[in-house]
Amino acid sequence: MAYQIKEAFYSIQGEGVQAGRPAVFCRFVGCNLWSGREEDRATAACNLCDTNFLGTDGQQGGRFENAVQLAQHLAALWPWPEAETKLSRTARPYVVLTGGEPLLQVDQPLIQALKQAGFEVAVETNGTLPVPTGIDWICVSPKGQARLQQRSGDELKLVYPQAGVDPNSFLELDFQHFVLQPLDGTPQKEAQDFTQQTLAFCLRHPCWKMGIQLHKYLRID
Ligand code: SF4
Repeated sequence: MAYQIKEAFYSIQGEGVQAGRPAVFCRFVGCNLWSGREEDRATAACNLCDTNFLGTDGQQGGRFENAVQLAQHLAALWPWPEAETKLSRTARPYVVLTGGEPLLQVDQPLIQALKQAGFEVAVETNGTLPVPTGIDWICVSPKGQARLQQRSGDELKLVYPQAGVDPNSFLELDFQHFVLQPLDGTPQKEAQDFTQQTLAFCLRHPCWKMGIQLHKYLRID
């Protein structure tokens, strides 16, 4: 199968439990909860998006004809050590499959090819599609009333506030970590309000950890 990638780059994970960890990011084209066009946003199942996932024209994006080709493309972005040392062996290569909704395209051949290339594989999904086996780190970010199919994983990361969504309704699900991340608002006053509301909620319900979008503070991708 061919894969369509908006962009791919090497940076640090800016969100959630793995924040600060160096990673190769692979952003897949397309989402099942929004077309990606502004004229459809108001009526979309998810209208929280701050990401461009249309087209293959981003940095190191493109169309890849098979899983090995894409895995090699992503592996070329990792800073492999020139010589094997004790330190280099402990820094396990890490790839984050994101989108858009990556599970519209991620399949077993791709997971196997990434493992063969030496990667630990993470996925960030809206949870409306089941995660294939073999993924090492599953982060589900539920959106609005969209029905969750993936009800277990490592991290549940909820953008807050969302109309009609009670964060505590997710606590019965089988996740190790629950992270509440402030909605990215404009103007700045609105963003500050969302941050304060998220902080207050986490302090009232300490099973939630407050998530910060580190890359936005650092002004990096
Ligand atoms: S589910 Fe995620 S990728 Fe899809 S529109 Fe919402 S925020 Fe964007």
